[in-house]
Amino acid sequence: MKALVAIFVSLILLSSGVMVISPAIAIPDNASDKAKVKVPENAVEIAPGIFSLGSVIHHGEVVEGLMVFHHRAGHSGGPGGGGGGDTTGDDSKCFTFLAKGAKWKGEAEPWIVNPSNSRGLTESDILTHLSANIEQWEDASGTDILGAGAETTDDLVADTTSPDDKNEVYFADVDSPGAIAVTIVWGHFSGPPFARDLIEWDQVYDDVDYDWSLDAPNDEGIQMDFDNIAAHELGHTVGMGHSPTDDTCLEQTMYPTAAFEEIIKRSLELGDRTGVSKLYS
Ligand SMILES: [Zn+2]
Repeated sequence: MKALVAIFVSLILLSSGVMVISPAIAIPDNASDKAKVKVPENAVEIAPGIFSLGSVIHHGEVVEGLMVFHHRAGHSGGPGGGGGGDTTGDDSKCFTFLAKGAKWKGEAEPWIVNPSNSRGLTESDILTHLSANIEQWEDASGTDILGAGAETTDDLVADTTSPDDKNEVYFADVDSPGAIAVTIVWGHFSGPPFARDLIEWDQVYDDVDYDWSLDAPNDEGIQMDFDNIAAHELGHTVGMGHSPTDDTCLEQTMYPTAAFEEIIKRSLELGDRTGVSKLYS
């Protein structure tokens, strides 16, 4: 019956001269050779868009992993929320910690980025933009959290089953409906607070489902602003969770969702700055 209706509608469209337009988001040709970034089968969704990757033995110690998706506002992929708000209008309360307060300790670790992308972003600028966004979090925390970044042409892999001692950033297809980007962190998330820490991070930006801008997004409602998304993802890297989802927190960088052309989350807001300052105090 549905097929008959579809044929009937098609006939009407054809006979009335209406053009059938293909979906607005085209898949770029040169994006197909990279592996899709997927949630592993044994992962458990512990909050919307946030998955526990379980525990593994790494260098003789038990470590845990988390995979956090950043979804587009209004998409059925879910808000990935930090829970209902109890901010009572106070935006300094607009923050949560990602992994029970686990944070980076000890020597700042270097990271690598493969800036190759299918959307024409200037590859030599990606490292600079990521570094500037890391600096925002470090300035707000009063701590030198991460080490220096370096470019690579190596094929990088997001570590969804166990850490590999490399902190990796790249572009690929993030295989979750509506996902703009995903950040994975590994570390010690249980035990007393002093025993909790972060030991590795990986981050992937979806250049198959999304077009990106490095300076000003166009006004056609199809581009994601790289700094708007990177500032958020790097918040997860340093240990920040999503803000509560009440309206008080809408403009916080760690609000769980983002929209096309949005740039408000490029800069950290009061909740973001208060949160990271407390985390690293
Ligand atoms: Zn997020």
